[in-house]
Amino acid sequence: MKGEIEAMTQSGQPTYLIMLGAPGAGKGTQARLIEESLGIPQVATGDLFRYNLSKETELGLLAKSYMEKGVLVPDDVTVRMVEDRLSRPDCAAGAILDGFPRNLDQAAALDELLAKYNQKVSRAIYIRVEREDLIARLTGRRVCKSCQAAFHVIFNPPATEGVCDQCDGELYQRADDSRDTVEKRLEVYFEQTAPLIEFYKDKGVLVEIDGGLPIDQVQDEIIRAIREN
Ligand code: ADP
Ligand code: AMP
Repeated sequence: MKGEIEAMTQSGQPTYLIMLGAPGAGKGTQARLIEESLGIPQVATGDLFRYNLSKETELGLLAKSYMEKGVLVPDDVTVRMVEDRLSRPDCAAGAILDGFPRNLDQAAALDELLAKYNQKVSRAIYIRVEREDLIARLTGRRVCKSCQAAFHVIFNPPATEGVCDQCDGELYQRADDSRDTVEKRLEVYFEQTAPLIEFYKDKGVLVEIDGGLPIDQVQDEIIRAIREN
């Protein structure tokens, strides 16, 4: 299976996959599961902001107040950060964009950015999950402080409570995974990000996946969709 989907990235053209879906839909979980087989890295804007915040960079401090409120960091800052990240050598064959774009202006900026290199979005993988399930997923999520891997207290528990299966790092609960901030983030998603579903459908690159299935089945569906489309 690995070889088959790798072939997609060996056409000579870089591959830009977008993981689309609400907070908690499983974008990060799935991006990490497929990045090795696709041979392109996950680029998660939320992780990049949190990294900058932990290092107290200017960018991190700017993003902080927006992230705490559960609203979007301004587009100019976000787009510049993505542009910088995509220009790194490890993104030469493309990237799996996770959490970006998050509104129509960011999607237009991404198209413009890729067009400079004669590239375009290869596919947008929309992971569909019901609202009540999203709340349960986000409020039970635990994230590794070291490698950012996501676990869930019930749906995807680590072998040892509080310890990352991948790197033995310490697991923590994101401040913005509190019930109140989750409600705000979902409101922002349905207002600003959900219109991207139609945007990518109109471009003919959208693939819709039932994200309510268990993690391994969602992964199988994504790989099947990449292979068949
Ligand atoms: P996103 O990156 O879209 O915000 P995550 O990948 O971090 O979402 O997943 C959110 C939470 O839901 C995590 O706690 C993760 O372990 C859990 N999760 C991910 N996929 C599934 C799934 N298919 N079924 C149940 N729980 C899931
Ligand atoms: P996430 O890790 O994807 O849940 O993102 C956490 C927070 O980071 C969001 O609530 C936003 O405040 C910010 N963020 C992440 N990606 C973007 C983006 N593409 N545009 C604006 N803000 C973002």
